[in-house]
Amino acid sequence: MSKIIIIGAGGVGRVTTIKCAQHPDVFSEILLASRTLGKCVEIAEDAKSRTGHQNITTAAIDAEDVPALTALIKEFDPVMVINVALPYQDLTIMDACLAAGVHYLDTANYEPKDEAKYAYHWQWAYQDRFQKAGLTAILGCGFDPGVTSIFTAHAAKHHFDEIHYLDIVDANAGDHGKAFATNFNPEINIREITQPGKYWENGQWIETEPHAIKRELNYPDIGPKMSYLIYHEELESLVKHFPTIKRARFWMTFGEEYLTHLRVIQNIGMAGIEPVMHQGREIIPIEFLKTVLPDPGELGENYTGHTSIGCRIRGIKDGKERTCYIWNNASHAAAYEETGAQGVSYTTGVPAMTGAMMLLQGKWSGAGVYNVEQFNPDPFLEKLGPHGLVWEEEIDGEIEFEV
Ligand code: NDP
Repeated sequence: MSKIIIIGAGGVGRVTTIKCAQHPDVFSEILLASRTLGKCVEIAEDAKSRTGHQNITTAAIDAEDVPALTALIKEFDPVMVINVALPYQDLTIMDACLAAGVHYLDTANYEPKDEAKYAYHWQWAYQDRFQKAGLTAILGCGFDPGVTSIFTAHAAKHHFDEIHYLDIVDANAGDHGKAFATNFNPEINIREITQPGKYWENGQWIETEPHAIKRELNYPDIGPKMSYLIYHEELESLVKHFPTIKRARFWMTFGEEYLTHLRVIQNIGMAGIEPVMHQGREIIPIEFLKTVLPDPGELGENYTGHTSIGCRIRGIKDGKERTCYIWNNASHAAAYEETGAQGVSYTTGVPAMTGAMMLLQGKWSGAGVYNVEQFNPDPFLEKLGPHGLVWEEEIDGEIEFEV
């Protein structure tokens, strides 16, 4: 029986709140706090009616205001904070958790607003402070990063003596019927996929032009989809924690239509993160773009199809070559039916709740800052299927793409 605060009332916040509310024995009191109170209230009422959990309250908070957030945390007195606001707020929420003496979990690494750069060093720098305070900070507990990192830890523990090659493959074979929309926060999403590609090979990072490397990959029960090599944050922590990895890459599917829209958005300057003057006041183009694009939290209603995200791994076991493919396929329609949100929010919110459960039940513990692959993967993966994300694995199958 524990109290928790969830920060961020977007698509992921909706799923996380509903999934926590499904387990009142673990999450006995929930406070959902975000910048806009109305969004929190709507989600809290929906969560109450879907689950019957009555101890869900709400608060308006600017998570970049550390004193105000610290006061809110102290007043509610939770065991931990689940941060599903934006990556920009990671450091201020970690500061408030330290000031109030509570544990921390997030799903995306810190990013400064004025520079699209995904790197863990800002949050890893909190190691000593969390350690001294005897508190746990869990970084990157969504699907990717999150489940993909835990799949890798599971493979390392149970199937390999050494992992040599890792390809994380992320397909969204869904259709939301819109000409252009992003599946999570548009600003964060567009910043992520328009940056240069980057992968790890033989001890160094290799950078490419954005979307310069592409391959048609086959996804289980979906079939072939054009997949593009992009940089994704879990690559940084995985090559650190599994130093036998010779090559680590991340692939994501994009449709032609999506990429054409993206090219136009970039070419006309709408993906810019520097302020520009508009009618006498400063605006940031990508922030304005967000206000006119569909809200990812509202995409669920007519969303059909599946996501398929997994790890394709090759390495050595008992002196022999071995391969392993571990994946989850998730249905947008099933996610919407259960939570009112689409599959990408669902595949992020379920692991966030499951990671929080691991901490509250003492299955994951330790003072300091941890990436999820540093914990025991077994209790997490045992719960992941029952919580809604059934996973499968194939050992020594033919891994389709290796060059
Ligand atoms: P949304 O934009 O839908 O929601 C973000 C929420 O955070 C909004 O409700 C917003 O409030 C709130 N927020 C923003 N700034 C502040 C602030 N200063 N103080 C308090 N609240 C604030 O995003 P998503 O739900 O799609 O994504 C949430 C997080 O999940 C993101 O960090 C994203 O990167 C991560 N993510 C991780 C994935 C993974 O697999 N690991 C996959 C998908 C997403 P308001 O509406 O009032 O502005």
